Amino acid sequence: MDHLRRIGALRRKLNRAGLQGLLITHLPDVRYLCGFTGSSAALAVTRYKARLFTDGRYKTQAAEETQGAQVEIAAGSPATAAVQWLGAQPGVLKAGFDPVTTTVAELGRLKEALPGRLRRSLLAVVEEPLVLPLRQIKDEEELGILREAALVGCRLFEHILTVLRPGLAEFEVAAELEHKARLLGAEGMSFETIVASGPRSALPHGRATRNPLPRRGFVTMDFGIILKGYCSDMTRTVFLGSPKREERSAYQAVLEAQESAVRAVREGAICGDVDEAARGVLRREGLADAFTHSTGHGVGLEIHEPPRVGAAQDSRLAAGMVITIEPGIYLPGKFGIRIEDMVHVTRTGGEILTPATKAFIEL
Ligand code: ZN
Ligand code: ZN
Repeated sequence: MDHLRRIGALRRKLNRAGLQGLLITHLPDVRYLCGFTGSSAALAVTRYKARLFTDGRYKTQAAEETQGAQVEIAAGSPATAAVQWLGAQPGVLKAGFDPVTTTVAELGRLKEALPGRLRRSLLAVVEEPLVLPLRQIKDEEELGILREAALVGCRLFEHILTVLRPGLAEFEVAAELEHKARLLGAEGMSFETIVASGPRSALPHGRATRNPLPRRGFVTMDFGIILKGYCSDMTRTVFLGSPKREERSAYQAVLEAQESAVRAVREGAICGDVDEAARGVLRREGLADAFTHSTGHGVGLEIHEPPRVGAAQDSRLAAGMVITIEPGIYLPGKFGIRIEDMVHVTRTGGEILTPATKAFIEL
């Protein structure tokens, strides 16, 4: 049902862009529009028809999953078959393709596959992405899945609190999170699990290493799961041993910044203002230079989607978006702290999808 609505919304955009067809090769876009989850696919959409091209391995799966599009098994590359099909449709003079996900080499191959008279005219660069803006606004079905995925993340955090102890290697913590994620129904992790402890917590993207968790220090864990294709993303930072006053107050500053940004989330809010809500708090605490990344990002079928919630970003939040709010501070040689929630944008504010505690935890 939803797939028909999504393809309908895409057709309205095609009309407005003056195109009669669109080639979709980015797999998350294909999945979003017609439900097919295989790794070899191209979707061709015209004003009246939609056709999914895949290869023989996916014959059964494509028939089961695909909605709102006919399925055709291509002998060669699905994208080539899709372009040839578009070229053969009456009334299709210009068909768009995504310049962000199509390489120059691929474009060359696609043109080669067309009859001479269409080679120069058929394929048109789409000025603005057409599918991504649709994907940014989550429908009820998507929100339901993202909620569930986010709650699995919260359960993982609760579980890992019972496991963390000095001496355990960072990668053992990551392995425990990933093992438990599978047991809770995750299809996989949405990105490489980050476990950064002690001075390593000052690395914003500290991968889990052999390093043992310290007797005294912060442990930052940033992790996410994939559920029905959708990604979750959350970060919590906890303390092993007893903290110094500086460590405790730094944590409170990050927490205050994070909550301030969550409060700034609502339909119509400017992304740069949400970022500033976090950044301003850290600036007042003298920690502006320690906050070295953006406040957040959209999340859905991909772990990083628009909008970017960063300094001076002038795009506006819309109801139905799901974004992360994840300010952090990184003091090289000392420690780092990041706190990240997934937040659903509504008309009246931000709804936190990851309600796991953010209180300062000493283990
Ligand atoms: Zn994260
Ligand atoms: Zn994130």
